[in-house]
Formats: sequence, C-alpha cells, structure tokens
Amino acid sequence: MFSFKVPTFPSAGVPAAMVLAATLLGATPAMAAQLKVVATTEDLASLAREVGGDKVSVVGLAKGYQDPHYVDPKPSFIFEVSRADLLIVVGRELEIGWLPPLINSSRNAKIQVGANGYLDASLTVKIMEIPTGQITRAMGDVHPQGNPHYWLDPENGRRIALAIKNKLTQLDPADKATFDARYADFDKRLAEAEKRWDATMAPYKGTKIVSFHRSWPNFVDRFGLNVVAYVEPKPGIPPSPAHTIDVIGEMKAQGVKLIIVEPYFDLKTPKAIAAQVGGTVLVLAPSVGGQKDASDYIKLFDYNVGTIAAALKQITGK
Ligand SMILES: [Zn+2]
Repeated sequence: MFSFKVPTFPSAGVPAAMVLAATLLGATPAMAAQLKVVATTEDLASLAREVGGDKVSVVGLAKGYQDPHYVDPKPSFIFEVSRADLLIVVGRELEIGWLPPLINSSRNAKIQVGANGYLDASLTVKIMEIPTGQITRAMGDVHPQGNPHYWLDPENGRRIALAIKNKLTQLDPADKATFDARYADFDKRLAEAEKRWDATMAPYKGTKIVSFHRSWPNFVDRFGLNVVAYVEPKPGIPPSPAHTIDVIGEMKAQGVKLIIVEPYFDLKTPKAIAAQVGGTVLVLAPSVGGQKDASDYIKLFDYNVGTIAAALKQITGK
C-alpha cells in the first residue's frame, strides 16, 4: 500500500527534486512549502508573519503580557520547538531562564544553537546599554549583554525582518520572490508609519519620564524622550523602599510627571510614587499582545506612541 506523508518538508537539506516529486504526487504546493517557525516572543512572531506570509506557519511562545525574562514554559512549547524548521530568539540572554531546557528537550537538531534553523535576532540590530565593566548575573542584573528589549525601535524591527527574510530564503529558496516582495511591502508600510509616529511625538522631544523596568531605551532614543529613573533598583530587582524614595526625589527635582509600566508589574509602587509627585502612571505594551490593540508589530507602536503622546499632551499642555 502506498502511503505518503507531507509534514516535514521542505526544510534545509531536502533536495528540490524531492519537493517537486512530492508536488507531482499530489501535495498542494502551498502546504508543501510551509516552514514551521517558532519565535520566542510575539514581536518576532509578528515580524516572521509579515515576511513569511502563507509560506510559513508561525507560533510565538511568550505572550506579550508576560515578562519575557521569566516565562513559565508550557508542555506545548516542547512540542512546538520539536517540530520547528526555524527557531527565532531575542538573544542577549533575555530567554536564558527558560529557553535552553526547551531546546534540549526538543531533540530537534535543526534548531540547536548554531544550526541552520536557529536565528538570533539580536545579531544585526542596534543594542544599547552594553556594559563596559565586569557585569555578572550575581549582581542581580538581567541585562548582562546589553539591553535585550531592542525590538522597541522600528529601525531594529526593520533589521530583524530583513534577517528573517534572509533566513527564510536560505531555508526555502523556492519562495525567495515571495519573501522579497513581502519584506519590501513591510518596509514601505513601516516607513509610512514612522512618519506618522515622528509627527505625533515631535512636540514632546526631550520630555523626561520614569519607567518601571529598563524596557524602553531603544524606544525613547528613537522618539526623543529621556528616562531619568527606574522603579526597579536594577533590571530584575523589585522596588525597595530606599530606592523608591530616591525615585520620588529625582522626579520632584526634575519635574517628571509620567511613569510608564509594563503590564506584568505590580502597580502599587508606581502609584505610590505618582501620588507623591502629582504624576501619572501609564501601562504600555512592551510587546505585541501586551495590550489588546497592540496586535501586530506596527500596531504595537501605534498603541504606545498614541497612548504616551495622549498622556504627555495632558501633562505638558502641548
Ligand atoms: Zn529586561
């Protein structure tokens, strides 16, 4: 009895002739061409969907409302990673607490670190806050290799999309034209959106704000804001009374009225600080899915730029 299985091709190393044969044997080309992509975050997943279209199936692991440093791996994660043709990671040790065991348990040779199906998105982007001295995790810093929240600059999003396009083309050369066209279209839409965001943020250039975690250096660098203090004493270290008093003093001294918070942190300390300085607490979306309207990479910026500009308009009267 002849039986034929579709699920695992084409992937790196499958000769084109086999793919052609499979197509002739009745597998639909669209199905045959779908690469299985797993991304560690919804931001990377969104960019992979932009570039890959229907040539890929994409799963994002960490949800946008979860702290990407500390993700509770679900059993389904191992299943997804085990069948992936491509694993896209943020890198810079963002996922060090939860991803290495998943990669090990998956027993998937294609997506091991350094294999063809492993893409570290941090390698072609602008990284900020790279430590100059000797930094170890023992000091409590969860950003020992520079700031890993780099996707919050649209220029970095563009570079990640380009790296994904090149990787997808390497794994699936037959669909190069599709990936090229989809990347070009994304690049164009992103450039149009950037003009919109720049115009919205222009009145607030140089405005000082406070953030809970160091999630926003790329974002504020891109849009001209200035973070002068953090609710966390160090990235990954919860607020302490002594540090909170320092933050209140700093905000009063510099006339800072806005605290931005990621959706996975307790609002108690930010609200207490805001009450002391007559300020406002704003929950933003550090990732796609972090708020309902931030449902893809471009909408993530639509949401954050719109929300922060509305708050700054109230505060500054500009
Ligand atoms: Zn962080």
